[in-house]
Amino acid sequence: MERLLDKLVERHELDKEEIICLLQHLTAERKDRLFHLAVQTRKLHYGESVFLRGLIEFSSFCKQDCLYCGLRRSNPSAQRYRLTEEEILECAEEGYRLGYRSFVLQSGEDYYFTEARLIRIITSMKLRFPEAAITLSIGERSEAFYRALFDAGADRYLLRHETASRSLYQSLHPGMSYDHRVSCLHTLKDIGYQVGAGFMVGLPGQTCEHLAEDLLFLKELHPEMIGIGPFIPHSATPLKDAQGGTVEDTLVMIAMARLLVPEALIPATTAMGTLDPVGREKALGAGCNVVMPILSPLGVRRKYALYENKICMGDEASLCRSCLEMRIAAAGYRIDLSRGDHCSFTGRAGGEPRR
Ligand code: SAH
Repeated sequence: MERLLDKLVERHELDKEEIICLLQHLTAERKDRLFHLAVQTRKLHYGESVFLRGLIEFSSFCKQDCLYCGLRRSNPSAQRYRLTEEEILECAEEGYRLGYRSFVLQSGEDYYFTEARLIRIITSMKLRFPEAAITLSIGERSEAFYRALFDAGADRYLLRHETASRSLYQSLHPGMSYDHRVSCLHTLKDIGYQVGAGFMVGLPGQTCEHLAEDLLFLKELHPEMIGIGPFIPHSATPLKDAQGGTVEDTLVMIAMARLLVPEALIPATTAMGTLDPVGREKALGAGCNVVMPILSPLGVRRKYALYENKICMGDEASLCRSCLEMRIAAAGYRIDLSRGDHCSFTGRAGGEPRR
């Protein structure tokens, strides 16, 4: 087993059988070594820096029906809201005042936000905050749409693959297609976005083998960003009685992802902080190097309920910033408020606006 860990660190690769073998024989000691190696690897590429991204959850409307998600269209108890363009800009303004130079615009798949509307929002943000990076996380759209938004100035795109098992994917996403999801990721990459993929841990029916496939999918796609979080059952979804993922299992996946894709930007997700008061700190200790404080207006935060009991529901943006700052410093890391580009992109962007 030690040989497998050595190989993982030296070559940043393992085959499926080796990953499964490692996962099945993880003692507490080996886990500690895995986390330690993941942290060393992340330090090699990004030092002690933890990058902050201000998260703006701008719409809770969704046309999709993912079985695990509280925003699914067949959840009649979901409270729906849309921020106006002015409100979105105000959130960004507040974030900018707090020092953030990286914003994530996330929503359900809400086609009210047309290409024209989004171009207007991106253009205004780029005008006001030229040195800030804009990340979109708004689901599956056409190539032309992705291209138009990139041309308007969007820098990055998060689209988790959710699970790399075709059968598991199909069973969780009625009306959606695994192939289409994956082709969106390739399209985004080809256009020139810094791309984020990722998956949930603890989905019903998910096995070690599925998780090994998720890790290998990431290794092959080689995304700039990787989002991994525990699945948290939502009481108003068909998966309400499922067991859900654990912090421990997710930490292992984070560390494995760090070692397989060493230069990736990996956030310590809100879902980790929701399951464990120090879940995000633990995630930093397993190789994460990004934290995404929520900038959405207090009045709508509760309504963006992918899952329940989400943390940071009451803290206004400035409090959020100081709370995270404290936590990150206490965990021994340093807050980096720059755009936080992937190390292969910094040469090109250099902290300056792209165009
Ligand atoms: N509509 C966008 C954004 C989705 S929300 C898109 O399709 O990409 C962001 C992520 O939250 C999802 O990709 C999913 O991995 C995660 N998520 C959704 N429901 C969840 C739940 N119940 N528990 C944990 N994570 C969840």
